[in-house]
Amino acid sequence: MTTTSPSPRRERQTKIVATLGPSSSDPKIIRALFDAGADVFRLNFSHGTHDDHRKRVDIIRAIERETNRPITILADMQGPKLRVGTFADKAIDLKIGQSFRFDLDPAPGSTSRVQLPHPEIFAALKNGSELLCDDGKVRMRVDSCGKDFAEMTVLAGQKLSDRKGVNVPDVVLPLSSLTPKDRIDLSVALDLGADWIALSFVQRPEDIVEARAIIGKRTAILAKLEKPAAVANLSAILDLSDGVMVARGDLGVEMRPEDVPLIQRQILREARRAGKPVIVATQMLESMISAPTPTRAEASDVAAAVFGGADAIMLSAETASGQYPIETVEMMNRIASRVQEDASYTGSLAAMNLPLQHTGADAITAAAKQVAETMDAVAIATYTTSGSTTLRASRERPQIPIICLTSKIETARRLTLSFGVHAVYTKDVTDFGEMVDKAAHIALRDGIAQVGQMIVVTAGVPFGMSGNTNTLRLTVVEK
Ligand code: PGA
Ligand code: MN
Repeated sequence: MTTTSPSPRRERQTKIVATLGPSSSDPKIIRALFDAGADVFRLNFSHGTHDDHRKRVDIIRAIERETNRPITILADMQGPKLRVGTFADKAIDLKIGQSFRFDLDPAPGSTSRVQLPHPEIFAALKNGSELLCDDGKVRMRVDSCGKDFAEMTVLAGQKLSDRKGVNVPDVVLPLSSLTPKDRIDLSVALDLGADWIALSFVQRPEDIVEARAIIGKRTAILAKLEKPAAVANLSAILDLSDGVMVARGDLGVEMRPEDVPLIQRQILREARRAGKPVIVATQMLESMISAPTPTRAEASDVAAAVFGGADAIMLSAETASGQYPIETVEMMNRIASRVQEDASYTGSLAAMNLPLQHTGADAITAAAKQVAETMDAVAIATYTTSGSTTLRASRERPQIPIICLTSKIETARRLTLSFGVHAVYTKDVTDFGEMVDKAAHIALRDGIAQVGQMIVVTAGVPFGMSGNTNTLRLTVVEK
């Protein structure tokens, strides 16, 4: 990145993820989304061509150069989204109690049958299993099944049409989270320089291991939690991933609606405990797809995720294909900023008692937070190569910004997703004194500190060894 003058720093600690799509592919609109508060752009590989994604990446990286701020690119893989085949007349009417057959025959469907082109499902179904179509609007129960068919009874729903999605909640499917399409998309995403890869429909820890074998250290891996099996395996999945998403769209189809808020809280708690970024996603400001203001319930939902300490909150169709992409980001920014100003916010974040690890990084960052509060310091500065020290500081959810100095642009981009992190890409520093000066200079330059204010600086001394955080300095910012 060149060093043109930086954009004003953002006061908001909870980050905003905006999905790009047909409503947000023009350079001016993407820039306006960034200016309105988007910190992370999500490329949804379920839609659009590789060329579309490449153009968006070029635009984002140009904005990065113009503003001198790192921007995170999250490439979201479609995963094994199951779908029915097509019907002779595009759609059929269903009657509750009728029987219906799924099979492997590609012939157009009728009122009594349709293709379900996934032999693995037939192998995994059992009598009594439930199958959901069209985001749960249609529910069917298996009466009998074999290796290439299932005879069902319709329990709920009125209509089924071409290529509608299918969810099988109570069965762990013998499917990898990476389909053949995903493997191609993944190599494109890596080639485009994505910072995070999101894996859809993760079920088991092995899904992460499999993706990691391909991705290596090139990007961070985000597990989308949208299957009951993933929730059941949460701690092992968290262990192996770099971050998680509460993917409430599919999760809400696969699990009962009354369970979703509790699962969201559980995932927030466990991800925060692990110190891994967590995104709350889907339907956050859904009505703004076609209206200039949200429902009051949506505003409350965004606020609840912020109070819950999410690292980031996400917009999907609202920014990708909605009529008010910029207004939606502005609204999300306003709600999150408003919560942050509230007197009860800090208490709400601190309510979680996080156990510390017996490491220098945890000891020093916990102390840094305490020192900063006691002395009214205005920032905590960390220096990191891998990003791990900064993540531990973010885990503490301090009230003041965490300045993350790093000489790796990839690290700056990756950490921009995390709560409270103001990442700055800068030349390598070789000793602690130089780092303290640089941190103070950047705090001043980026409008975080004024002359005479204090910042807390943490580091591992001597420099150049990772995982040796052992030093804390309180310093006054000078001209
Ligand atoms: P999707 O994932 O938008 O890719 O389906 C998010 C979700 O299911 O909530
Ligand atoms: Mn999903």
